[in-house]
This record gives sequence, structure tokens and C-alpha cells, in this order.
Amino acid sequence: THAIQVRGLTKRYSGVEAVAGIDLEIEHGAVFAILGPNGAGKSTTVEILEGYRKRDSGEVSVLGADPGRPTRQWRSRIGIVLQTNQDAPELTVREIMRLYATYYPASRDPDEVIEMVGLTESAGKRVRQLSGGQRRRVDVALGVVGRPELLFLDEPTTGFDPESRRRFWDLISGLAHDGTTIVLTTHYLEEAETLADRVAVIAQGKIVAAGDPATLGGRA
Ligand code: ADP
Ligand code: ADP
Repeated sequence: THAIQVRGLTKRYSGVEAVAGIDLEIEHGAVFAILGPNGAGKSTTVEILEGYRKRDSGEVSVLGADPGRPTRQWRSRIGIVLQTNQDAPELTVREIMRLYATYYPASRDPDEVIEMVGLTESAGKRVRQLSGGQRRRVDVALGVVGRPELLFLDEPTTGFDPESRRRFWDLISGLAHDGTTIVLTTHYLEEAETLADRVAVIAQGKIVAAGDPATLGGRA
């Protein structure tokens, strides 16, 4: 069985067909990239898979369950990195990490995760005092502290400088190596090529190409 199986997924906002019939099969342990330009339907698709947005139609299975009816137990197996996390700006990095860790039954050590994302020196700072790139790393840290089986990353490195991006890629490769299934959206071809085993290219709510990133990259 697959970690994620999607057939005929659609979602329309008033006047906009954001997702127009998408099929996906994502294997356990894969790093799967959904690559496409702004407005292609990446966030909408991922939000539906995360259980944060209702679909109009289609069959969707995520870790064996329907994300349209999320349970607490199911949520605890999934890690989510949203595009903009505005949680608790007054908490310090260490405080918010410890808080999140208590929500999950098999959490990672918060200090270890802070180290993983390169925020050890900022661990005592309030989230609102951090730069954009540092906040993004907090987002990622919050997504992985629960030791999820399946991790969603929506545009994880938008706004990163090249050095931070490389470090982030190393972090993701490490999580993948440990067996975490990862679904990421990106508009950077290089990010998909570097990280993913499989890539689906999305445009105007449809998958227009899918396969091995090296093959797709050669043609883009
Ligand atoms: P991407 O993540 O690839 O940028 P989105 O899924 O955010 O794409 O958006 C797909 C389309 O749906 C775009 O045309 C966008 O403007 C529209 N859209 C997204 N969210 C909403 C919303 N909440 N209400 C109305 N239209 C939306
Ligand atoms: P939801 O209540 O489903 O979470 P959002 O918080 O995404 O919706 O959006 C709140 C409002 O902003 C909605 O009225 C939506 O139509 C609008 N909106 C959000 N994102 C977009 C977008 N990308 N394009 C057009 N409208 C949007």
C-alpha cells in the first residue's frame, strides 16, 4: 500500500478551479516533490492531504485514512510545515519547541531538533525577534519535533539564502534517510532535483508531468 493515494481530486474556490482532477501515488519512505509555479494549486492540494481543507471530489487516502475526517491519532503521525506559521510570537524558540513536543506521543528531544535546524544560538530568543529565514527554520523544527511518519513541507525554502537552503536540504535528506516520507511543494526545479525521488509537475490544477527528477529536469 502507498503512504498517499489520490484519485480525481478537485477543488474550486469561487470562480477558480484550483485543483482540476489530480491523481497521485506516493510510496512510504519516498521524498515526493510537487513542482509548479505560483497559483498552480500546490498549497490547495497539500492542505487537502493534511486535512486542513475540504475537497470537492475525489478519493484520497493518507496513511490509510481519509484526511477529510481527521482524527487526533492520525494527526499525531503527520508533520506539517505551513507557508506562514504565526504561532506564539512571544514564546522563545525553546519554549515553543517544548510545547509542541508535548502534543506528540513519540517526540524528538526539542534541543536536538533546535540543533538540527541550526538554531541553537537563537534558542532563547522570542520567535518575533527572529529573521524570516530563522522563523522558517522554527517552522520546520515544529514540523519534525513530533517524529512524524509523514512530513508535509509547503514551499519550505522560499526566502532562504543559498547557504540556509543547502543546510535545509541536508536536514531533509537526513530525515528521509531515517525513513520519514516527505511531500514538499516548491517552485524551485533545483530543490526538486536535489531532494526528490519522484516529482509531479503541476500547472493550473493538473499534473502535467511526473517521474524521475533527473529525467524531468533534463527537459525543463
Ligand atoms: P500554489 O500553492 O501553487 O501557489 P494555490 O493552491 O495557493 O497554488 O492556489 C491555486 C489557485 O487557487 C490560485 O488561483 C489561487 O489564487 C486560488 N486560491 C487559493 N486559495 C484560495 C482561497 N482561499 N480562496 C480563493 N481562491 C484561492
Ligand atoms: P479558509 O477559511 O478556507 O481557511 P483562507 O483563510 O485561505 O480560507 O482565506 C480567507 C479568505 O481569503 C477567503 O475569503 C478567500 O476567498 C480569500 N483568499 C485566501 N487566499 C486567496 C487567494 N490565494 N486568492 C484569492 N483569495 C484568497
